Amino acid sequence: MMIKPVQQGQHTPDPIVIARRDNVLHDKKSWVELQDMLPSPGSVVHPDLAIVNAARVSFLGESKGPEQDKRLLLYLLNHRHTTPFEQVEFKFRVRAPVVVWWQWVRHRTWHYNFQSGRYTPFEEDDFYIPAQWRLQSESNKQGSEGHLEGLDNNQLVDELRQFTAEGFSLYQQALNMGVAREQARLFLPAWCSYYIAVCKVDAWNLMNFLRLRLAEDAQWEIRQFATALHEMFRDAMPWTAEAFDRHMSPLSNTR
Ligand SMILES: Cc1cc2nc3c(=O)[nH]c(=O)nc-3n(C[C@H](O)[C@H](O)[C@H](O)COP(=O)(O)OP(=O)(O)OC[C@H]3O[C@@H](n4cnc5c(N)ncnc54)[C@H](O)[C@@H]3O)c2cc1C
Repeated sequence: MMIKPVQQGQHTPDPIVIARRDNVLHDKKSWVELQDMLPSPGSVVHPDLAIVNAARVSFLGESKGPEQDKRLLLYLLNHRHTTPFEQVEFKFRVRAPVVVWWQWVRHRTWHYNFQSGRYTPFEEDDFYIPAQWRLQSESNKQGSEGHLEGLDNNQLVDELRQFTAEGFSLYQQALNMGVAREQARLFLPAWCSYYIAVCKVDAWNLMNFLRLRLAEDAQWEIRQFATALHEMFRDAMPWTAEAFDRHMSPLSNTR
């Protein structure tokens, strides 16, 4: 049997999504960057088509044109035929506070490399300070609802800023006394400290992450990161993102 070369991309290539950086939290200190993809949206085989091609290898089939290819892709996700979606990989660089990383790293199917506080000293005034304090939810022990209003809110924002400044000053004092970076960091307010990581994930497990972390019961901060990833995912893989929105997204009411 004669096997033809793989079909070329059916989309207009959009390499602009690669290397794009989106700010995430209000403080402009946290961001998500799509460093690279395999295949890239600008490559000969578009990532959406890479999934269709992977599924069609089951019966050595080929592209049947955009309409049928897209229909197959939607069918695959709806019926949780998931392995073709693992053929596409995303590499992100992310700057997030530890309160976000603490939850993110529970996703074991991602691959991570983190900045090291043993090598890199922390910088002054570089902590996550929320603009708005949320109130404890009455119905969800893990959740929040509503906001602390007015002066109380502003006072707590100022107090956290002061607390981080004090922690940073003690950290610097310890460094100045010759204490090792790896130990001096015990003085830093860890939950609001920023860390950068490079993280790699395949499209199926990215969707699993988005399913859990776009949901209303996920913490607000990680939801903002999931929203930024969702936007990039939409731009990079429009067919697959549409399939996600239809069949998996917690934001969709047609699931
Ligand atoms: C709203 C919310 C609240 C949470 N609260 C808590 C909490 O209070 N305490 C807490 O500890 N965690 C909590 N978590 C984390 C949660 O338990 C999961 O660890 C996290 O969501 C990662 O999900 P995952 O395992 O599906 O993702 P991944 O680790 O990316 O795994 C994806 C899928 O791969 C498979 N898989 C991966 N690794 C293995 C493995 N070793 N063995 C078998 N199957 C595997 C599973 O099918 C899994 O669903 C919470 C998560 C959410 C969204």
